[in-house]
Amino acid sequence: MATISTSTSELRDITKMERIGAHSHIRGLGLDAKLEPRQNSEGMVGQGKARKAAGIYLKMVKEARIAGRAILMAGPPSTGKTAIAMGMAQSLGSDVPFTALAASEVFSLAMSKTEALTQAFRRSIGVRIKEETEIIEGEVVEIQIDRSLTGATKTGKLTIKTTDMETVYDLGTKMIDALSKEKVSAGDIVSIDKASGKITKLGRSFARSRDYDAMGADTKFVQCPEGELQKRKEVVHTVSLHEIDVINSRTQGFLALFAGDTGEIKPELRAQINTKVNEWREEGKAEIVPGVLFIDEVHMLDIECFSFLNRALENELAPLVVMASNRGTSRVRGTNVRSPHGLPVDLLDRVLIVTTAPYAPEDIEQIIKIRCTEEDVALAPDALNILTTMATQTTLRYALNLISCAHVVAKKRKVEVVAVEDLRRAYAYFLDEKRSVQFLKEQQGALIFEDAEEVTGSGT
Ligand code: ATP
Repeated sequence: MATISTSTSELRDITKMERIGAHSHIRGLGLDAKLEPRQNSEGMVGQGKARKAAGIYLKMVKEARIAGRAILMAGPPSTGKTAIAMGMAQSLGSDVPFTALAASEVFSLAMSKTEALTQAFRRSIGVRIKEETEIIEGEVVEIQIDRSLTGATKTGKLTIKTTDMETVYDLGTKMIDALSKEKVSAGDIVSIDKASGKITKLGRSFARSRDYDAMGADTKFVQCPEGELQKRKEVVHTVSLHEIDVINSRTQGFLALFAGDTGEIKPELRAQINTKVNEWREEGKAEIVPGVLFIDEVHMLDIECFSFLNRALENELAPLVVMASNRGTSRVRGTNVRSPHGLPVDLLDRVLIVTTAPYAPEDIEQIIKIRCTEEDVALAPDALNILTTMATQTTLRYALNLISCAHVVAKKRKVEVVAVEDLRRAYAYFLDEKRSVQFLKEQQGALIFEDAEEVTGSGT
C-alpha cells in the first residue's frame, strides 16, 4: 500500500502559496487603437477575429450607444471563450460593472431562477451618481480649466476664495495664462494676487484651511460664468442597480450586501428604484453605466430562463450580455427540441454569434509560454515542443494543466527545469478526455450507474 509522505512543512508552504487562476495571465483583449488584434499582447494570443468582435462590442458598451444586446461566443472547448470574456472585463473601466455567472448557478433553492437572473442583470448595470455640493460664501473651491475651451496647453486646478463672479473670471484667465506659459502644471494649487496678478505656487499639499486663511480675506467665490471655467466640487461614485435594490429593501438592508445573502427583492421596489434612477438621470444627477453580464455554459439554462432572457434584453436598463457555449446542436433544457448551441431559435435570432476556432500550434506554443511565466515554471525547449504537440492532440486546457503537474514531478526529482520525462510522467498520471473515453470503453459494464442504453450498445 502506498503511504502518503507529504510533510507538514510542505503543507504549510501550500497554504502560504499564492494561488494562480486559469485566466490570471489575461490583462485585456490585446487590441490596438484601431481595435486590430495584436498577435501577442496583454496575455492574449491568436483568436484575432473573436477578439476584434469583442473589442467592437466593448466599444458599444463604453459609448453606451445601445442597450440589451447579446453575443454568443460559440466554439469548441478551450478555445478561449472565457478568456476573451475575462479580457473584456479587464479592459472596461474600473467602474464599469462586469458580472460572471455559470448558468448552473441560477438553479438554487434560495431564490427562483428568474430572481437569480434579475439580480445578475441588475448587478451589471452601474449608476454613476454625481453629488455636487453647494458652494457657501468664503469656501475654498477648485476650478478645473478646460483646455479644449480655453486653448491652454494643460489643465490645472485653481483654488481660490471668492464669491465675486468678476474676480473668478479674472483670476481664471490669469491662471490659464500661467498654464500656457508652463509656470504651473496640472494639479498645482496656486494663489493669485488680485491686484498684481502674481501667481504663487502653493504646492499640492496646500489644503489646510489655515493656509487658505492666510491668503487674505477679500477673495470669495461663485460659480464661474460662460462655462469656460468649470466648478469642480463633485463627488462621483458608482453603485450597481442591485446594490441600490438591496440597500432600499426593508427586509434586507445594506448589511445584506456584506453577507452576500440578499434573498428575493420585491418587483414593486425595483419599479420604484427604476423611476427614481430615471429621475436622477433627467436631473443630471446620475448616469447609467451599462456593464457586461457573462453567462458561461449558457446551454445549461432552461427554456424558462431563455424566455426570461428574451424579455429582459428588451428592457431599457439591460446590460450587454455575453454568453458562451461549447455545445453543437443539442436539446434545449426543459423541452424536447434540439437547437444549435442548445439555445432556442428565437433567442439565437437576436444574438450576435462570435465563433472561436481551435488554435494553430504557434499560438498554442505562445500560450504555453505565457502560462509558464505566470506559474513561474521553467520548461526545457524540447519539453515545450512536446507539450505543444500534446495540446494539438488533446486540448489546450489539458496541456496547460500538465504544466503544474509536471512541475511538481520535476521538483520531486529535485530539478528546477521541467523536462520531457516530467511531462511523460504527468501524462501517465492524468488522463485527457480521449484516453478517458478509451478507459470507459475498456471498463464497460464494470463501473456503477452507467447508462443502460450505452452498456447494451443500443444508444444513439
Ligand atoms: P470551455 O468551452 O471548455 O469553457 P473556453 O473556450 O472557455 O472553454 P478557456 O477556458 O477560455 O476556454 O481557455 C482555456 C485556457 O486557455 C485558459 O487558461 C485560458 O486563459 C487560456 N487561453 C485560451 N485562449 C487564450 C488566448 N487567446 N490567449 C491566451 N490564453 C488563452
